[in-house]
Amino acid sequence: LVARDLHPHDTIVSIGGVAFGGRAVPVIAGPCAVETREQLFNSASAVQAAGAKVLRAGAYKPRTSPYGFSGHGPEGLRLLREVADELSMPVVTEVMDTADVDIVAAHADALQIGARNMQNFPLLRAVGRTDKPVLLKRGLSAKIEELLLAAEYILAAGNDQVILCERGIRTFETATRNTLDLNAVPYMKQRTHLPVVVDPSHGTGIRDLVGPMALAAAACGADGLLIEVHENPSVALSDGAQSLYPDQFAALMPRVSAVLAAV
Ligand code: PEP
Ligand code: MN
Repeated sequence: LVARDLHPHDTIVSIGGVAFGGRAVPVIAGPCAVETREQLFNSASAVQAAGAKVLRAGAYKPRTSPYGFSGHGPEGLRLLREVADELSMPVVTEVMDTADVDIVAAHADALQIGARNMQNFPLLRAVGRTDKPVLLKRGLSAKIEELLLAAEYILAAGNDQVILCERGIRTFETATRNTLDLNAVPYMKQRTHLPVVVDPSHGTGIRDLVGPMALAAAACGADGLLIEVHENPSVALSDGAQSLYPDQFAALMPRVSAVLAAV
């Protein structure tokens, strides 16, 4: 179902009216996690003012340590919907558990499957039974083939609104949080009709590398970008080191447009 040879034309996936897979390259942005209403609103309005089309923040956070901030859950979802509506922005947020699919789908315009759950097959089937678009992130150690087969689970369950996300993979290199595999973008564009977005934030883990890799992603054919931006990354409860300051994001956006105009 995901293969391009049987379905040659590009699938366009709409998140609340924002199209991925067409001519435009929309940017999804926001803080890693919903922390407070003020933090979410300030971060969201800043990214919107700079040109981001879709808001993203987590209410359920998969944290490596069980003692890390793991999100506000249902209260985070409520805040996300409230701020998204106030700004008239669609919102995508992660669902980690099959038991939460209904409540997340009731609050969000699109469902994110995080890297750690890319091969959670019951969860893939559950989001495949919803009518919400799915942003499917590549697993930390997943081959491209495995990402495509994870997407296949969602399509096979009846939902063809899937956006693939390259977010870096684990390699021998430890200088960066992950190794952003930009090869995957043109490769997957050949193999599948689904849109492919790039997340240079988790791909690098280092704020000052996010901009250059966002530009590279735009140059190699990404259908969208996912960038973490926090009103004040120095106090972020998760992923502060890779989160852009609002003014950095605002400076990056016209450069992304310039790359897109050049390629
Ligand atoms: C996230 O998007 O904040 C996240 C946890 O990403 P990943 O699943 O790619 O690690
Ligand atoms: Mn994050």
